[in-house]
Amino acid sequence: MKRHRLRRLCCLALALALAALPGCGGRESVPQTEYTRYTVQFYDTFDTVIQVIGYTETQEEFEGYADAIHNRFIELSRLYDRFYEYTGINNIRTINLNAGIQPVEVEEEILDMLEFAKEWCEKSDGRVNIAMGPVLEVWHGYMAAYAGTTVEPGPGVLPTQEELEAATAHTDLSKVIIDREAGTVFLEEEGMMLDVGAVAKGYAAQVVADEIYEAGFHSFIISAGGNVVTKDPPLDGIRDSWGIGIQDPFADPNDPSATSLDVVFVENLSVVTSGDYQRFYMVGDRRIHHIIDPETLQPADRYRSLTIVTDDSGLGDFLSTCLFVMDYEEGRALAEELGVEALWVFPDGEVTYTDGLLPMLRDRGGATAAIGQ
Ligand code: ADP
Ligand code: MG
Repeated sequence: MKRHRLRRLCCLALALALAALPGCGGRESVPQTEYTRYTVQFYDTFDTVIQVIGYTETQEEFEGYADAIHNRFIELSRLYDRFYEYTGINNIRTINLNAGIQPVEVEEEILDMLEFAKEWCEKSDGRVNIAMGPVLEVWHGYMAAYAGTTVEPGPGVLPTQEELEAATAHTDLSKVIIDREAGTVFLEEEGMMLDVGAVAKGYAAQVVADEIYEAGFHSFIISAGGNVVTKDPPLDGIRDSWGIGIQDPFADPNDPSATSLDVVFVENLSVVTSGDYQRFYMVGDRRIHHIIDPETLQPADRYRSLTIVTDDSGLGDFLSTCLFVMDYEEGRALAEELGVEALWVFPDGEVTYTDGLLPMLRDRGGATAAIGQ
């Protein structure tokens, strides 16, 4: 429970920082347009805060879209939930409970997301593995037990390597059977467990953004706890892109006045960050966070944060986790091969990024020219 509260606070701080960015505009900066900027936040899905900022002609219009967005996030977060069951719904938890027993009939949204995730997990050579649930569950237990111990030196305890290795016994991705025709998902071995935490939230954010755009809402951003999707430029009559703050991993996450590491200017792109600063506990001076390197079975410690800019927030979410556990050269080569932009923050504070990102970055001198200011 404490962990949830802390996480919400962190996410709230991020959301507020985002809202406060000059790049996100404000009502006072919209003199010659019929559109007004509105915002809404909700806190009851994906264990995070979801913020919508958008421009519409009337408040009613915005509220209609905001309700639809909220309802869709509720549906998707229930479907992708691995902790709780909901009456009348087969979700990720139902699939896990039926591991080694029987295939589970699921909604299209689950089939789509799992097919997407499985395909990318295969391409990642096992660095991201949605079938690694049993290992992640071990870490999750320790994380929950020491939630809130974020001071240094922390009193937290680590799982033993034996405990972690034992948990790898049933983590074979090829035994996740997705049957499109039957509309079912089956985990072939007892003891298997899906964990879609690396991809589901970003995937859902893209689904919701695409659907509401189709429904007529243009000019908005949806920020789902570190996963931001942007659609069309802000209709303020001034700017041609949205300014999205990249959280500074070295700043206090509970300090709403903390400045961003940089601001990336985008439209019709997503900006997704994975970091070690939101979900963690301290063991002595060691920060134990939630992104696990399958090779060591330990939290990946190459970077403080990793940001991906791409046109699909499902892919952005996947890749932000994936590159977080890859070494720099390999990760950079992968980003370049896929044509996505990436920004790495190293533990010593060094920041590097792909060449294509520079024109979008405010504080590194690129964005000013790009947006003509
Ligand atoms: P967040 O959910 O905080 O935005 P990420 O997108 O990076 O962060 O996802 C982290 C989550 O992904 C973890 O909480 C865990 O559920 C899951 N996870 C961590 N490491 C891996 C991994 N190597 N492969 C698959 N899933 C992972
Ligand atoms: Mg991710």
